[in-house]
Amino acid sequence: MANPEASAPPAPYDILFEPVAIGPLVTRNRFFQVPHCNGMGYRDPSAQAAMRKVKAEGGWAVVCTEQVEIHPTSDITPFIELRIWDDTDLPSLARIAEAIHEGGALAGIELAHNGLNAPNLYSREIPLGPHHLPVATYGYHPVQARMMSKQDIADLRRWHRNAVARSMTAGYDLVYVYAGHSFGGIEYFLSPKFNQRADEYGGSVRNRMRLLREILEDTLEVADGRIAVACRISVEEGLAGAGISRGEIEEILGELGELPDLWDFVRGSWDADSTTSRFGPEGEHEKYVAGLKQLTSKPVVGVGRFTSPDLMVRQVKSGILDLIGAARPSIADPFLPEKIRTGSLETIRECIGCNVCVSGDFTMSPIRCTQNPSMGEEFRRGWHPERIRVRGSGSRILVVGSGPAGLEAARALGVRGYDVVLAEAGRDLGGRVAWESRLPGLASWVRVLDYRQQAIETMPNVEVYRESRMSADDIVAFEFQHVAVATGATWRRDGVARWHTQPIPADAGADVLTPDDLVAGRRPRGSRVVVYDDDHYYLGGVVAELLRSEGFEVEIVTPAAQASAWTVNTMEVDRVQRRLLLAGVTLRTSTALTAIGASEVTVANVYTGQLSEAAADSVVMVTARLPEDELFRQLVARKEQGQITSVRAIGDAWAPGTIAAAVWSGRRYAEEFDAELPANDVVPFRREVTQLYADPA
Ligand code: ADP
Ligand code: SF4
Repeated sequence: MANPEASAPPAPYDILFEPVAIGPLVTRNRFFQVPHCNGMGYRDPSAQAAMRKVKAEGGWAVVCTEQVEIHPTSDITPFIELRIWDDTDLPSLARIAEAIHEGGALAGIELAHNGLNAPNLYSREIPLGPHHLPVATYGYHPVQARMMSKQDIADLRRWHRNAVARSMTAGYDLVYVYAGHSFGGIEYFLSPKFNQRADEYGGSVRNRMRLLREILEDTLEVADGRIAVACRISVEEGLAGAGISRGEIEEILGELGELPDLWDFVRGSWDADSTTSRFGPEGEHEKYVAGLKQLTSKPVVGVGRFTSPDLMVRQVKSGILDLIGAARPSIADPFLPEKIRTGSLETIRECIGCNVCVSGDFTMSPIRCTQNPSMGEEFRRGWHPERIRVRGSGSRILVVGSGPAGLEAARALGVRGYDVVLAEAGRDLGGRVAWESRLPGLASWVRVLDYRQQAIETMPNVEVYRESRMSADDIVAFEFQHVAVATGATWRRDGVARWHTQPIPADAGADVLTPDDLVAGRRPRGSRVVVYDDDHYYLGGVVAELLRSEGFEVEIVTPAAQASAWTVNTMEVDRVQRRLLLAGVTLRTSTALTAIGASEVTVANVYTGQLSEAAADSVVMVTARLPEDELFRQLVARKEQGQITSVRAIGDAWAPGTIAAAVWSGRRYAEEFDAELPANDVVPFRREVTQLYADPA
């Protein structure tokens, strides 16, 4: 927790707390929460307001909305973003701006006309693009955009001006012109790949930038020096030479560099910009952004999954950025700036780069974060990343198991002031996080453990016992009255998951392993291994990578159409395929495992049912898990006998899920301990319901 007593920021980092002028604005420091999606948008505006307010409280100088659709021809359904289609949207937008101001930050709004990226599935308007092309979205929607006429361009300019005026009415201090991430439709005009026009808006880069220039000039005119104007632009399209070249970006900056009050440089489409730690390091953007600041006198913001203050300082000192942009680091730790300002670096909850936050947007559900369980719960449940109400009793609580659920429960209960005992059967803390972070590409995930272990070590009221496997008898003998059972889960060996809900037949001589066996050091007995993935998140792919790197011949068999199919929601799925294929892993997709022999497996095509055989000495089952809930069930019996007062299973011991779900479950236990809970037929959180139209006729 930051120390509010400290006044001046510590010397090496004081440069991060210098003010920066952005047009008519002066920021309080260099920390800038860039626009980011959150799955709440127009559906959950008060939840978003509360979330943004916490960021402002945490010290970010500027806090922005996500992209805000400016017109019904810019409707990116099924994604749920904000809208500024007409005045009906203003109360929600104003609530968010007010909340940001209450938290002490400047409020930015990212206006977007998505152009070729808007399938308009809700509005049913025809999408508008530089040319007649199918929409460029994450889904293969059967929708084509229409080539914009001069009248369409005039209309778009007017809509954007209207949106700027409305943003000012709603109280925003800074407004974006968006030409980035393959979301901001202006980018399609800039890009030689998409702009095939023969008029003055196509052809030469000077022509292709005409629309951007016009919209920037319009925006500046409406802003009239009263609010700041930012321009977000992709400086590298990642289209293998078909997109905007470095020379063209330099030419654009040469022409337009002095127009906006702030440049926000991003890399390519969103998935290229927000790479996970599995596929890209912190500060990865530097190679694309370096040298561009020198082409404008205006301040520059950019991202890089920055959590290291030293790296932030270097970005500023070496003239790459003026403002440290962050989406994910501000999600994992909304108080990151405050913690640096007060010299509490060891309390920073570092983003692990897993993109579970992104999955909220992709699944149209409110944002969640592996590291910060309060993310998205600020309004709904009143959770805060740094504060939690003080204890309601002098109870002593035993937490059994130190995986992500147990660690977070112990930490949060400790902050509440309870006496907590955390007992772990093994020598190492961390449960699944400890071993998963040793797998290829997942090293940063150990931060889930590091943050919590560090926090717990500073708490005299939390005792940690390693190599302490607890039984129900121990717990009763030690006179614990309240127990949280966080004993985790075990991977199944029988193949039961989604495709098979009954065990897959296996020969007595078959060698079948689970991820738990690999952790324990076991390896397949022969060289040919099938990884059967009916889990579909990251682990099947990661296990295949691990075994391939150790020299095994690896084939992934999966009923899904892609390996690690769910990673589409973390924007990793393409990179996963690429990495596996380049490593020499064979992908046998749309295929279910149906029988396991000693040296071969039988598989079935999931569409035709046609059977075939594949040579395999061993099978690794990445399918489903079973909760380790024996202790929990014994304790429930002890409770019924009056030997303990309360017991709850949390995390994977209650129901196996993501690490994010386990952390959240631990937090929920700590939040609800000693609380008067309503019956579970009551909705356990606040929500907003669509307001009915006054006159349905
Ligand atoms: P979760 O994801 O729910 O936090 P994990 O599987 O990561 O669960 O962690 C569970 C932890 O609980 C492991 O570190 C395991 O060693 C520990 N554990 C399991 N059973 C016991 C027990 N009876 N006593 C103490 N620790 C236990
Ligand atoms: Fe970082 Fe993962 Fe949290 Fe997103 S969900 S902010 S990537 S830790």
